[in-house]
Amino acid sequence: MSRQKIAAGNWKMNTSHSDGYFLAEAITKAKRPKDVQTIMAVPFTHLGAVQAHTYDKKNIAVAAQNFHHEEKGAYTGEISIGMLSSMHIPYALIGHSERREYQKESNKLLATKLDLALAHNIKPIFCCGEKLPIRKSKKHVSFVKKQLKEGLFHLSKSDIKRVVIAYEPVWAIGTGETASPEQAQEMHAAIRKMLADKYDQDVADSISILYGGSVKPANAKSLFGQPDVDGGLVGGASLDADGFVEIIHSF
Ligand code: PEP
Repeated sequence: MSRQKIAAGNWKMNTSHSDGYFLAEAITKAKRPKDVQTIMAVPFTHLGAVQAHTYDKKNIAVAAQNFHHEEKGAYTGEISIGMLSSMHIPYALIGHSERREYQKESNKLLATKLDLALAHNIKPIFCCGEKLPIRKSKKHVSFVKKQLKEGLFHLSKSDIKRVVIAYEPVWAIGTGETASPEQAQEMHAAIRKMLADKYDQDVADSISILYGGSVKPANAKSLFGQPDVDGGLVGGASLDADGFVEIIHSF
């Protein structure tokens, strides 16, 4: 089965409004392969401007980096899923390791957010991944399994098929240290087996699993060439239009 290939950029808390506008414009206007879905996860303040570039284009879309776990209410400064869906935002990141770490987002909270996103027809990109000590103690597969079990596996068979999974080893995010293609493949194959065991092989074969952690133009080809790696979630390297477009062409 052929799965959707995805190159997703995560701008995090970077770019001024005008820099973001021109970055999105350059990526949108660049020649991109038709069979790769390009996604730009941008700060809330940039969603409208970036979507103005993408809304009438094929194979490119904007994503939110977060939303609040309540539908509405007295949560000053927060953004609700309903606000995103009223803007027709098609994707949202859920459970990025920086939010797990700094905002203490738990698997239980992330499960609630997943339900909210799906109820509002926003496709979640669910992030998982282990820190270095867990990798060193060789418990990385069971750690990620727990993240999926508690955050994701309450979903029905039809709903899980609407999710994109991003495996991002925390020790490789923003560090310049990338998982080797073999390390990425090992975990991606393990995640696919978890999906097959919990649901079935059809589900496992249909879900795109992205790798994230210091993906750059120089290493994207070898990572995306692995049989269970369906693309990347790219932080730092997605802020340079030429470099990101090169990554989009790395399948
Ligand atoms: C990320 O932000 O999800 C990420 C993988 O960052 P970087 O590519 O900079 O490591």
